Amino acid sequence: MNEFQPEKVIELRTKHKMSQRELGKCLGVTDRAISKWETGLSKPSGQNLIYLSKIFSVPIEYFLQKPDTLKTASPQKGMESIIELYKIGSGPSSSHTIGPEKACLAFKDKNKEADEFEVILYGSLAKTGKGHGTDEVVKKTFLPKNCRVIFDVLKADIPHPNTMEIIALKGNKEIDRIRAFSVGGGSIEFENIKNVPCNRIYRKSTFNEIAEYCRKNSKKLWEYALENEDDTFLDYMRNIWQVMKETITRGLADDGVLPGGLEVQKKAKILFNSQHIDESAQTRENRMVCAYAFAVGEQNASGCRVVTAPTCGAAGVLPAVLYYQQQKGEFSDEEIVRALMTAGIIGNIIKTNASISGAECGCQAEVGSACAMAAAALAELFGLSIDKIEYAAEIAMEHHLGLTCDPICGLVQIPCIERNAVAAMRAINAVSLSSFLWDSRKISFDKVVQTMKETGRDMHTAYKETAEGGLAKIKIT
Ligand code: SF4
Repeated sequence: MNEFQPEKVIELRTKHKMSQRELGKCLGVTDRAISKWETGLSKPSGQNLIYLSKIFSVPIEYFLQKPDTLKTASPQKGMESIIELYKIGSGPSSSHTIGPEKACLAFKDKNKEADEFEVILYGSLAKTGKGHGTDEVVKKTFLPKNCRVIFDVLKADIPHPNTMEIIALKGNKEIDRIRAFSVGGGSIEFENIKNVPCNRIYRKSTFNEIAEYCRKNSKKLWEYALENEDDTFLDYMRNIWQVMKETITRGLADDGVLPGGLEVQKKAKILFNSQHIDESAQTRENRMVCAYAFAVGEQNASGCRVVTAPTCGAAGVLPAVLYYQQQKGEFSDEEIVRALMTAGIIGNIIKTNASISGAECGCQAEVGSACAMAAAALAELFGLSIDKIEYAAEIAMEHHLGLTCDPICGLVQIPCIERNAVAAMRAINAVSLSSFLWDSRKISFDKVVQTMKETGRDMHTAYKETAEGGLAKIKIT
Protein backbone atom coordinates (compact mmCIF):
# COMPACT_ATOMS: atom_id res chain seq x y z
CA MET A 1 0.00 0.00 0.00
CA ASN A 2 1.22 3.48 -0.74
CA GLU A 3 2.16 5.56 2.26
CA PHE A 4 1.82 9.24 2.96
CA GLN A 5 5.13 11.01 2.20
CA PRO A 6 5.60 13.92 4.67
CA GLU A 7 8.49 15.40 2.68
CA LYS A 8 6.19 16.07 -0.24
CA VAL A 9 4.31 18.67 1.81
CA ILE A 10 7.59 20.35 2.83
CA GLU A 11 8.82 20.27 -0.74
CA LEU A 12 5.71 21.87 -2.22
CA ARG A 13 5.26 24.38 0.59
CA THR A 14 8.91 25.46 0.20
CA LYS A 15 8.58 25.63 -3.56
CA HIS A 16 5.53 27.89 -3.24
CA LYS A 17 7.27 29.92 -0.52
CA MET A 18 4.42 29.35 1.96
CA SER A 19 4.91 29.23 5.70
CA GLN A 20 3.26 26.47 7.75
CA ARG A 21 0.88 29.12 9.07
CA GLU A 22 -0.11 30.22 5.57
CA LEU A 23 -0.72 26.67 4.42
CA GLY A 24 -2.65 25.92 7.61
CA LYS A 25 -4.86 28.94 6.94
CA CYS A 26 -5.70 27.70 3.44
CA LEU A 27 -6.65 24.30 4.83
CA GLY A 28 -8.40 25.52 7.97
CA VAL A 29 -5.93 23.74 10.29
CA THR A 30 -3.27 25.04 12.67
CA ASP A 31 0.40 25.47 11.77
CA ARG A 32 1.04 22.84 14.45
CA ALA A 33 -0.98 20.33 12.45
CA ILE A 34 1.09 21.09 9.34
CA SER A 35 4.25 20.69 11.37
CA LYS A 36 3.06 17.25 12.56
CA TRP A 37 2.32 16.14 8.98
CA GLU A 38 5.74 17.29 7.87
CA THR A 39 7.56 15.48 10.64
CA GLY A 40 5.49 12.32 10.19
CA LEU A 41 3.85 12.56 13.62
CA SER A 42 0.41 12.53 12.04
CA LYS A 43 -1.18 12.34 8.60
CA PRO A 44 -3.67 14.59 6.86
CA SER A 45 -7.22 13.26 6.56
CA GLY A 46 -8.49 12.13 3.16
CA GLN A 47 -10.34 15.44 2.80
CA ASN A 48 -7.20 17.44 3.60
CA LEU A 49 -5.25 15.40 1.07
CA ILE A 50 -7.77 16.45 -1.56
CA TYR A 51 -7.35 20.11 -0.51
CA LEU A 52 -3.55 19.77 -0.56
CA SER A 53 -3.62 18.38 -4.07
CA LYS A 54 -5.85 21.30 -5.19
CA ILE A 55 -3.70 23.97 -3.54
CA PHE A 56 -0.51 22.67 -5.12
CA SER A 57 -2.08 21.42 -8.37
CA VAL A 58 -0.69 17.92 -8.08
CA PRO A 59 -2.53 14.59 -8.04
CA ILE A 60 -3.30 13.07 -4.62
CA GLU A 61 -0.97 10.20 -5.53
CA TYR A 62 1.90 12.66 -5.42
CA PHE A 63 1.70 12.60 -1.62
CA LEU A 64 1.40 8.83 -1.53
CA GLN A 65 3.93 7.50 -3.97
CA LYS A 66 7.26 6.09 -2.93
CA PRO A 67 10.20 8.36 -3.85
CA ASP A 68 11.62 5.86 -6.32
CA THR A 69 8.37 5.65 -8.23
CA LEU A 70 7.98 9.40 -8.55
CA LYS A 71 7.51 10.71 -12.01
CA THR A 72 10.29 13.09 -12.87
CA ALA A 73 9.26 16.70 -12.92
CA SER A 74 9.23 18.26 -16.35
CA PRO A 75 12.50 20.13 -16.94
CA GLN A 76 12.71 23.90 -16.71
CA LYS A 77 12.47 25.80 -19.96
CA GLY A 78 15.69 27.63 -20.69
CA MET A 79 18.67 28.65 -18.58
CA GLU A 80 20.23 31.84 -17.28
CA SER A 81 23.60 33.16 -18.40
CA ILE A 82 26.72 31.27 -17.29
CA ILE A 83 27.78 34.62 -15.81
CA GLU A 84 25.20 33.93 -13.07
CA LEU A 85 27.04 30.71 -12.25
CA TYR A 86 30.66 31.87 -12.10
CA LYS A 87 30.79 34.75 -9.64
CA ILE A 88 33.79 36.39 -8.07
CA GLY A 89 33.34 37.00 -4.35
CA SER A 90 34.63 36.54 -0.85
CA GLY A 91 34.55 33.09 0.73
CA PRO A 92 33.81 30.96 2.55
CA SER A 93 30.27 30.35 1.29
CA SER A 94 28.30 31.58 -1.70
CA SER A 95 24.98 31.06 0.06
CA HIS A 96 26.18 32.24 3.49
CA THR A 97 28.43 35.16 2.54
CA ILE A 98 27.99 36.26 -1.10
CA GLY A 99 24.16 35.87 -1.09
CA PRO A 100 23.48 37.63 2.25
CA GLU A 101 25.95 40.38 1.31
CA LYS A 102 24.01 40.97 -1.90
CA ALA A 103 20.63 41.07 -0.07
CA CYS A 104 21.96 43.50 2.57
CA LEU A 105 23.50 45.78 -0.05
CA ALA A 106 20.18 46.07 -1.92
CA PHE A 107 18.28 46.74 1.33
CA LYS A 108 20.85 49.28 2.54
CA ASP A 109 20.59 51.09 -0.75
CA LYS A 110 16.79 51.20 -0.48
CA ASN A 111 16.88 52.50 3.13
CA LYS A 112 19.47 55.25 3.03
CA GLU A 113 17.62 57.20 5.73
CA ALA A 114 17.83 54.36 8.30
CA ASP A 115 20.25 54.89 11.17
CA GLU A 116 20.68 51.22 12.08
CA PHE A 117 19.76 47.73 10.89
CA GLU A 118 18.89 44.35 12.32
CA VAL A 119 19.28 41.02 10.54
CA ILE A 120 17.71 37.77 11.74
CA LEU A 121 19.13 34.58 10.28
CA TYR A 122 17.05 31.39 10.12
CA GLY A 123 17.53 27.76 9.11
CA SER A 124 20.92 26.86 7.71
CA LEU A 125 21.99 30.53 7.83
CA ALA A 126 21.41 30.48 11.59
CA LYS A 127 22.87 27.04 12.20
CA THR A 128 26.11 27.43 10.28
CA GLY A 129 26.20 31.22 9.84
CA LYS A 130 28.67 31.69 12.70
CA GLY A 131 31.17 29.26 11.19
CA HIS A 132 30.64 30.66 7.70
CA GLY A 133 31.14 34.23 8.96
CA THR A 134 27.69 35.41 7.80
CA ASP A 135 27.39 37.85 10.73
CA GLU A 136 30.77 39.39 9.94
CA VAL A 137 29.89 39.90 6.28
CA VAL A 138 26.45 41.33 7.14
CA LYS A 139 27.89 43.80 9.68
CA LYS A 140 30.60 44.85 7.26
CA THR A 141 28.05 45.44 4.51
CA PHE A 142 26.02 47.87 6.63
CA LEU A 143 29.03 49.92 7.73
CA PRO A 144 29.34 52.71 8.74
CA LYS A 145 25.87 52.07 10.19
CA ASN A 146 25.36 49.68 13.05
CA CYS A 147 23.80 46.26 12.45
CA ARG A 148 22.70 43.71 15.03
CA VAL A 149 22.73 40.09 13.83
CA ILE A 150 20.50 37.50 15.51
CA PHE A 151 20.85 33.75 14.96
CA ASP A 152 17.40 32.16 15.36
CA VAL A 153 18.18 28.45 15.26
CA LEU A 154 14.81 27.37 16.67
CA LYS A 155 12.34 28.69 14.11
CA ALA A 156 11.41 25.82 11.83
CA ASP A 157 8.49 27.44 10.04
CA ILE A 158 10.46 29.09 7.25
CA PRO A 159 9.79 29.09 3.52
CA HIS A 160 13.40 28.37 2.47
CA PRO A 161 16.31 26.67 4.29
CA ASN A 162 18.39 29.86 3.89
CA THR A 163 16.00 32.57 5.08
CA MET A 164 16.93 35.95 6.51
CA GLU A 165 14.93 38.94 7.69
CA ILE A 166 16.41 42.40 7.28
CA ILE A 167 15.01 45.30 9.28
CA ALA A 168 15.74 49.03 8.91
CA LEU A 169 15.39 51.25 12.01
CA LYS A 170 15.25 55.01 12.43
CA GLY A 171 15.14 56.49 15.92
CA ASN A 172 14.48 52.99 17.29
CA LYS A 173 11.39 52.65 15.06
CA GLU A 174 11.11 50.06 12.34
CA ILE A 175 10.79 51.74 8.94
CA ASP A 176 11.23 48.79 6.61
CA ARG A 177 11.53 45.01 6.71
CA ILE A 178 12.07 42.34 4.09
CA ARG A 179 12.52 38.59 3.94
CA ALA A 180 15.26 37.30 1.64
CA PHE A 181 16.25 33.81 0.58
CA SER A 182 19.80 32.87 -0.30
CA VAL A 183 18.98 30.28 -2.94
CA GLY A 184 22.48 29.03 -3.73
CA GLY A 185 25.59 30.03 -5.66
CA GLY A 186 25.29 33.61 -4.30
CA SER A 187 21.84 34.22 -5.82
CA ILE A 188 19.14 35.97 -3.80
CA GLU A 189 15.36 36.16 -3.96
CA PHE A 190 13.11 38.51 -1.98
CA GLU A 191 9.71 37.65 -0.57
CA ASN A 192 6.61 39.48 -1.80
CA ILE A 193 8.47 41.75 -4.16
CA LYS A 194 8.89 41.17 -7.79
CA ASN A 195 12.30 39.60 -8.03
CA VAL A 196 14.26 40.50 -11.10
CA PRO A 197 12.85 37.89 -13.45
CA CYS A 198 15.43 35.33 -14.29
CA ASN A 199 16.67 36.07 -17.73
CA ARG A 200 16.72 32.72 -19.47
CA ILE A 201 18.95 33.52 -22.42
CA TYR A 202 19.39 29.83 -23.26
CA ARG A 203 16.26 28.28 -24.73
CA LYS A 204 17.33 24.74 -23.95
CA SER A 205 17.90 23.36 -20.47
CA THR A 206 18.66 19.66 -20.66
CA PHE A 207 21.84 17.99 -21.84
CA ASN A 208 19.83 15.92 -24.27
CA GLU A 209 18.34 18.96 -26.04
CA ILE A 210 21.64 20.82 -26.13
CA ALA A 211 23.62 17.82 -27.38
CA GLU A 212 21.07 17.16 -30.10
CA TYR A 213 21.33 20.78 -31.28
CA CYS A 214 25.14 20.68 -31.21
CA ARG A 215 25.30 17.42 -33.16
CA LYS A 216 22.89 18.70 -35.77
CA ASN A 217 24.82 21.94 -36.23
CA SER A 218 28.33 20.52 -35.77
CA LYS A 219 28.95 22.68 -32.75
CA LYS A 220 30.94 22.14 -29.58
CA LEU A 221 29.30 22.79 -26.22
CA TRP A 222 31.41 25.91 -25.68
CA GLU A 223 30.34 27.20 -29.09
CA TYR A 224 26.73 26.73 -28.05
CA ALA A 225 27.49 28.86 -24.97
CA LEU A 226 29.11 31.60 -27.06
CA GLU A 227 26.17 31.58 -29.44
CA ASN A 228 23.72 32.31 -26.61
CA GLU A 229 25.70 34.77 -24.50
CA ASP A 230 26.36 38.44 -25.32
CA ASP A 231 29.54 40.19 -26.50
CA THR A 232 30.92 40.69 -23.01
CA PHE A 233 30.88 37.00 -22.20
CA LEU A 234 34.25 35.97 -23.59
CA ASP A 235 36.08 38.71 -21.69
CA TYR A 236 34.12 37.83 -18.56
CA MET A 237 35.24 34.20 -18.85
CA ARG A 238 38.86 35.23 -19.49
CA ASN A 239 38.74 37.22 -16.26
CA ILE A 240 37.19 34.25 -14.42
CA TRP A 241 40.15 32.09 -15.44
CA GLN A 242 42.55 34.84 -14.43
CA VAL A 243 41.01 35.06 -10.95
CA MET A 244 41.03 31.27 -10.59
CA LYS A 245 44.75 31.20 -11.38
CA GLU A 246 45.48 34.05 -8.98
CA THR A 247 43.62 32.26 -6.19
CA ILE A 248 45.71 29.13 -6.73
CA THR A 249 48.97 31.11 -6.80
CA ARG A 250 48.05 32.96 -3.59
CA GLY A 251 47.00 29.73 -1.91
CA LEU A 252 50.25 27.95 -2.77
CA ALA A 253 52.26 30.72 -1.13
CA ASP A 254 50.13 30.93 1.99
CA ASP A 255 50.74 29.16 5.28
CA GLY A 256 49.63 29.26 8.92
CA VAL A 257 46.31 28.31 10.43
CA LEU A 258 42.81 28.82 9.04
CA PRO A 259 40.49 31.17 10.96
CA GLY A 260 37.55 29.83 12.98
CA GLY A 261 39.09 28.04 15.93
CA LEU A 262 39.56 24.51 14.53
CA GLU A 263 43.29 25.16 14.25
CA VAL A 264 43.38 23.62 10.77
CA GLN A 265 46.82 24.00 9.23
CA LYS A 266 47.00 25.30 5.66
CA LYS A 267 48.47 22.47 3.60
CA ALA A 268 48.56 23.59 -0.04
CA LYS A 269 52.12 24.88 0.19
CA ILE A 270 53.32 21.72 1.96
CA LEU A 271 51.68 19.48 -0.66
CA PHE A 272 53.10 21.58 -3.47
CA ASN A 273 56.65 21.38 -2.15
CA SER A 274 56.75 17.82 -0.79
CA GLN A 275 58.29 16.05 -3.74
CA HIS A 276 59.48 12.47 -3.18
CA ILE A 277 62.89 11.57 -4.58
CA ASP A 278 61.44 8.64 -6.52
CA GLU A 279 58.00 10.12 -7.13
CA SER A 280 56.06 8.45 -9.94
CA ALA A 281 54.19 10.48 -12.54
CA GLN A 282 50.88 9.33 -11.06
CA THR A 283 51.86 10.31 -7.52
CA ARG A 284 53.00 13.68 -8.73
CA GLU A 285 49.75 14.26 -10.60
CA ASN A 286 47.79 13.38 -7.48
CA ARG A 287 49.93 15.64 -5.28
CA MET A 288 49.80 18.62 -7.62
CA VAL A 289 46.09 18.45 -8.39
CA CYS A 290 45.37 18.14 -4.66
CA ALA A 291 47.74 21.03 -3.85
CA TYR A 292 45.84 23.27 -6.28
CA ALA A 293 42.46 22.22 -4.87
CA PHE A 294 43.72 22.82 -1.31
CA ALA A 295 45.07 26.22 -2.35
CA VAL A 296 41.62 27.39 -3.47
CA GLY A 297 39.81 25.71 -0.56
CA GLU A 298 42.14 27.36 1.96
CA GLN A 299 41.81 30.78 0.36
CA ASN A 300 38.05 30.34 0.46
CA ALA A 301 38.10 29.28 4.13
CA SER A 302 40.20 32.38 4.85
CA GLY A 303 37.49 34.64 3.41
CA CYS A 304 39.59 35.56 0.36
CA ARG A 305 38.53 36.09 -3.24
CA VAL A 306 37.42 32.99 -5.15
CA VAL A 307 35.24 32.12 -8.11
CA THR A 308 32.05 30.17 -7.39
CA ALA A 309 32.40 26.98 -9.41
CA PRO A 310 29.55 26.45 -8.84
CA THR A 311 29.80 27.56 -5.16
CA CYS A 312 32.51 28.85 -2.85
CA GLY A 313 32.68 25.61 -0.84
CA ALA A 314 33.29 23.62 -4.03
CA ALA A 315 35.43 26.29 -5.72
CA GLY A 316 38.65 24.24 -5.77
CA VAL A 317 37.69 21.28 -7.95
CA LEU A 318 37.42 22.84 -11.41
CA PRO A 319 40.44 25.22 -11.28
CA ALA A 320 42.64 22.47 -9.79
CA VAL A 321 41.98 20.12 -12.70
CA LEU A 322 42.44 22.82 -15.36
CA TYR A 323 45.47 24.47 -13.76
CA TYR A 324 47.25 21.12 -13.58
CA GLN A 325 46.72 20.55 -17.29
CA GLN A 326 47.96 24.02 -18.12
CA GLN A 327 51.04 23.66 -15.91
CA LYS A 328 51.92 20.51 -17.81
CA GLY A 329 52.36 22.95 -20.67
CA GLU A 330 49.66 21.51 -22.85
CA PHE A 331 46.95 24.12 -23.07
CA SER A 332 46.65 27.84 -23.72
CA ASP A 333 44.45 30.24 -21.74
CA GLU A 334 41.99 30.37 -24.64
CA GLU A 335 41.61 26.58 -24.65
CA ILE A 336 41.05 26.57 -20.88
CA VAL A 337 38.45 29.33 -21.21
CA ARG A 338 36.55 27.18 -23.72
CA ALA A 339 36.66 24.26 -21.30
CA LEU A 340 35.28 26.58 -18.60
CA MET A 341 32.36 27.40 -20.89
CA THR A 342 31.60 23.70 -21.35
CA ALA A 343 31.77 23.26 -17.57
CA GLY A 344 29.43 26.26 -17.31
CA ILE A 345 26.83 24.51 -19.49
CA ILE A 346 27.00 21.46 -17.19
CA GLY A 347 26.76 23.58 -14.03
CA ASN A 348 23.88 25.54 -15.50
CA ILE A 349 21.94 22.38 -16.34
CA ILE A 350 22.35 21.19 -12.73
CA LYS A 351 21.46 24.59 -11.28
CA THR A 352 18.37 24.87 -13.47
CA ASN A 353 16.98 21.35 -13.10
CA ALA A 354 18.18 20.41 -9.61
CA SER A 355 20.26 22.55 -7.25
CA ILE A 356 23.79 23.71 -6.52
CA SER A 357 22.97 24.51 -2.89
CA GLY A 358 24.23 22.40 0.04
CA ALA A 359 21.34 23.67 2.16
CA GLU A 360 18.86 22.36 -0.40
CA CYS A 361 20.41 19.09 -1.60
CA GLY A 362 23.55 18.42 0.47
CA CYS A 363 27.15 18.32 -0.74
CA GLN A 364 26.23 16.23 -3.80
CA ALA A 365 24.83 19.52 -5.16
CA GLU A 366 28.05 21.43 -4.47
CA VAL A 367 31.11 19.17 -4.73
CA GLY A 368 29.18 16.66 -6.89
CA SER A 369 28.27 19.42 -9.34
CA ALA A 370 31.81 20.81 -9.28
CA CYS A 371 33.17 17.34 -10.08
CA ALA A 372 30.76 16.98 -13.02
CA MET A 373 31.79 20.42 -14.30
CA ALA A 374 35.49 19.57 -13.97
CA ALA A 375 35.06 16.22 -15.73
CA ALA A 376 33.21 17.89 -18.63
CA ALA A 377 35.84 20.64 -18.85
CA LEU A 378 38.69 18.15 -18.96
CA ALA A 379 36.93 16.00 -21.54
CA GLU A 380 36.44 19.15 -23.65
CA LEU A 381 40.10 20.04 -23.25
CA PHE A 382 41.08 16.56 -24.44
CA GLY A 383 38.87 16.99 -27.51
CA LEU A 384 36.45 14.20 -26.58
CA SER A 385 33.06 13.89 -28.29
CA ILE A 386 29.84 15.25 -26.79
CA ASP A 387 28.81 11.70 -25.82
CA LYS A 388 32.05 11.21 -23.92
CA ILE A 389 31.75 14.61 -22.27
CA GLU A 390 28.26 13.67 -21.13
CA TYR A 391 29.42 10.32 -19.79
CA ALA A 392 32.34 11.90 -17.91
CA ALA A 393 30.00 14.41 -16.24
CA GLU A 394 27.48 11.68 -15.50
CA ILE A 395 30.09 9.42 -13.83
CA ALA A 396 31.36 12.35 -11.78
CA MET A 397 27.89 13.23 -10.51
CA GLU A 398 26.69 9.65 -10.07
CA HIS A 399 29.39 8.79 -7.59
CA HIS A 400 28.59 11.78 -5.42
CA LEU A 401 24.89 10.93 -5.11
CA GLY A 402 23.82 11.05 -1.49
CA LEU A 403 26.86 13.02 -0.34
CA THR A 404 25.84 14.97 2.74
CA CYS A 405 26.82 18.46 3.80
CA ASP A 406 28.23 18.21 7.32
CA PRO A 407 30.89 20.87 7.91
CA ILE A 408 32.44 20.66 11.38
CA CYS A 409 31.49 23.73 13.46
CA GLY A 410 29.80 25.08 10.33
CA LEU A 411 33.24 26.06 8.98
CA VAL A 412 33.94 25.37 5.32
CA GLN A 413 37.10 23.45 6.24
CA ILE A 414 36.53 19.84 7.35
CA PRO A 415 35.55 17.91 5.25
CA CYS A 416 35.18 20.59 2.54
CA ILE A 417 38.78 21.36 1.56
CA GLU A 418 39.93 17.74 1.34
CA ARG A 419 36.68 16.87 -0.41
CA ASN A 420 37.54 19.33 -3.20
CA ALA A 421 40.86 17.57 -3.72
CA VAL A 422 39.28 14.11 -3.80
CA ALA A 423 36.63 15.33 -6.26
CA ALA A 424 39.30 16.81 -8.53
CA MET A 425 40.99 13.39 -8.75
CA ARG A 426 37.62 11.76 -9.30
CA ALA A 427 36.93 14.10 -12.22
CA ILE A 428 40.17 12.98 -13.89
CA ASN A 429 39.22 9.32 -13.36
CA ALA A 430 35.74 9.96 -14.75
CA VAL A 431 37.21 11.33 -17.99
CA SER A 432 39.52 8.37 -18.31
CA LEU A 433 36.65 5.90 -17.80
CA SER A 434 34.38 7.73 -20.19
CA SER A 435 36.88 7.63 -23.01
CA PHE A 436 36.91 3.81 -22.82
CA LEU A 437 33.39 2.89 -21.81
CA TRP A 438 31.13 5.61 -23.20
CA ASP A 439 29.32 3.37 -25.70
CA SER A 440 28.03 0.97 -23.04
CA ARG A 441 26.55 3.53 -20.67
CA LYS A 442 22.99 3.18 -19.44
CA ILE A 443 22.33 6.42 -17.57
CA SER A 444 22.08 9.87 -19.11
CA PHE A 445 23.40 13.04 -17.50
CA ASP A 446 19.86 14.45 -17.32
CA LYS A 447 18.72 11.35 -15.44
CA VAL A 448 21.50 11.60 -12.88
CA VAL A 449 20.72 15.30 -12.33
CA GLN A 450 17.08 14.44 -11.69
CA THR A 451 18.16 11.67 -9.31
CA MET A 452 20.41 14.08 -7.44
CA LYS A 453 17.47 16.42 -6.98
CA GLU A 454 15.23 13.64 -5.66
CA THR A 455 17.97 12.35 -3.37
CA GLY A 456 18.47 15.85 -1.98
CA ARG A 457 14.75 16.24 -1.43
CA ASP A 458 14.64 13.00 0.55
CA MET A 459 17.77 13.79 2.57
CA HIS A 460 17.24 14.57 6.26
CA THR A 461 17.79 18.26 7.05
CA ALA A 462 20.53 17.35 9.54
CA TYR A 463 22.71 16.63 6.49
CA LYS A 464 21.97 19.82 4.59
CA GLU A 465 24.34 22.51 5.83
CA THR A 466 22.84 22.64 9.31
CA ALA A 467 25.94 21.23 11.10
CA GLU A 468 23.62 18.88 13.01
CA GLY A 469 24.52 15.49 11.53
CA GLY A 470 27.36 13.41 10.14
CA LEU A 471 30.90 14.65 10.67
CA ALA A 472 29.54 17.92 12.03
CA LYS A 473 28.59 16.12 15.24
CA ILE A 474 32.24 15.35 15.99
CA LYS A 475 33.66 17.60 18.65
CA ILE A 476 37.18 18.74 17.82
CA THR A 477 39.05 20.37 20.68
S1 SF4 B 1 30.27 19.84 3.09
FE1 SF4 B 1 30.15 20.36 0.90
S2 SF4 B 1 28.22 21.50 0.66
FE2 SF4 B 1 28.74 21.45 2.83
S3 SF4 B 1 29.84 23.39 3.22
FE3 SF4 B 1 31.36 21.79 2.78
S4 SF4 B 1 31.71 21.90 0.56
FE4 SF4 B 1 29.82 23.05 0.96
